[in-house]
Amino acid sequence: MSSINEPSFRESVDLMFNRAVSLMDLPPGLEEKIRVCNATYTVRFGVRLRGEIRTFTGYRSVHSEHMEPVKGGIRYSMGVNQDEVEALAALMTYKCALVEAPFGGSKGGLCIDPREYEEHELELITRRFAYELAKRDLINPSQNVPAPDMGTGEREMAWIADQYQRMNTTDINGKACVTGKPLNAGGIAGRVEATGRGVQYALREFFRYEEDTAKAGLSGTLDGKRVVVQGLGNVGYHAAKFLAEDDGSVITGVIERDGAIVDDTGINADELRNWIMAHGGVKGYPHGTYVEDGAKVLEQACDILIPAALEGVINLSNADRVKAPLIIEAANGPVTAGADEILRDKGCVIIPDMYANAGGVTVSYFEWVKNLSHIRFGRMQRRQEEARHQLVVDQLETLSDSLGEKWSLDPMFKEQYLRGAGELELVRSGLDDTMRTAYQSMRKVWHERDDVQDLRTAAYLVSIEKVASSYRAKGL
Ligand code: NAD
Repeated sequence: MSSINEPSFRESVDLMFNRAVSLMDLPPGLEEKIRVCNATYTVRFGVRLRGEIRTFTGYRSVHSEHMEPVKGGIRYSMGVNQDEVEALAALMTYKCALVEAPFGGSKGGLCIDPREYEEHELELITRRFAYELAKRDLINPSQNVPAPDMGTGEREMAWIADQYQRMNTTDINGKACVTGKPLNAGGIAGRVEATGRGVQYALREFFRYEEDTAKAGLSGTLDGKRVVVQGLGNVGYHAAKFLAEDDGSVITGVIERDGAIVDDTGINADELRNWIMAHGGVKGYPHGTYVEDGAKVLEQACDILIPAALEGVINLSNADRVKAPLIIEAANGPVTAGADEILRDKGCVIIPDMYANAGGVTVSYFEWVKNLSHIRFGRMQRRQEEARHQLVVDQLETLSDSLGEKWSLDPMFKEQYLRGAGELELVRSGLDDTMRTAYQSMRKVWHERDDVQDLRTAAYLVSIEKVASSYRAKGL
């Protein structure tokens, strides 16, 4: 896929880090302390499956413990290796700092193709992996809190939580050992959609600033913008669905493992996802045109390109042919350091991964807080809020009666105003606020500093400064 001159994923992250650090005034020792990965644990364990013992290799990497617990997803993929896990752990450190989630960075991975296993086999494997990590405090509510990533989801998180709780039967905060759990196993409303929702909120915020959209040669709103998405998994599917349904964007291309579907009239994310679930890929989908070499569609003309699958997909071998003026990195590390330079030179604006996909960790943070406080968000306030709003509505209606003017409030307004916020509304509000605030902190640096030309460098500057002040506060 990528050229042999391309640095590895971790090297790519370090190069981007170094570029930002060269614009800062950090003592060299501190710079190195922040950059390096503190520890990576490799585990090999056996599970008896189909009459034989199979050995699996997994990792949990802790990049920075300037705040604890450390946080980061667990990935199931054949591509998992130490370099990748360490790169992803580093990104988690910067991501958490940028969106002010009070965590250090971590990441885990298991070298496995989950599609090759039955559900009960995956449960055995996941529980054993969780056992190996939990017994070393690499899963622990106060030290290390995993979450879903590629190839894992709510189901795996529920197994991990249960495994931890079996091993720590008196830990009252046991559920907080992992986030991304199903609602009935201690999860939070809105976590599954969170990363895709965050991508939508990030784009909305970007389009609020004419100056910023102009830098990408775009104007107006998200309405009618042509969007190409790579990877219709958790992140890509939700981003595509919300952008089309809520903002009027048109999904003109979807790239998956076995090829791509292109359709200028718009692809329905739900229908295509159902097709993939039923048929294992996009091939044969009855609408649009099938393109066998999916990666070519990354080069298709569009307004917004959303890589939401793997790292390194936009690299030295294709960057100069990518036409999108705006790329939002829903995946981690989809653009290599070399490609980043080529795209910047072409004037392409890249909304960087550490910001773009931070919706997941943001809502994970809310879930962790919910688990520690043992109460659903909104449970105490909701009815009280509704009662106070009802008072206002009643008073207005009485007023209209007493004035002899028979006006009444719009029923839609009344319904919306009277409904108190439940957990989902509060989670979305907290996520929206987080995405807006983080964007504003990045754009301030982007616009105010002459030596900062792009959002990625701005994001690194904001987050490294935050990590550095945590270390300084600790006396390091
Ligand atoms: P997922 O497993 O739900 O989906 C990945 C999708 O990509 C699948 O549909 C898969 O078929 C597709 N895919 C795999 N290889 C591909 C290829 N070569 N070409 C095109 N498509 C391919 O994973 P996800 O959770 O949506 O994660 C996707 C990316 O987002 C990863 O980089 C992950 O680190 C990042 N991310 C995820 C979360 C989260 O909350 N899940 C949070 C932050 C970042």
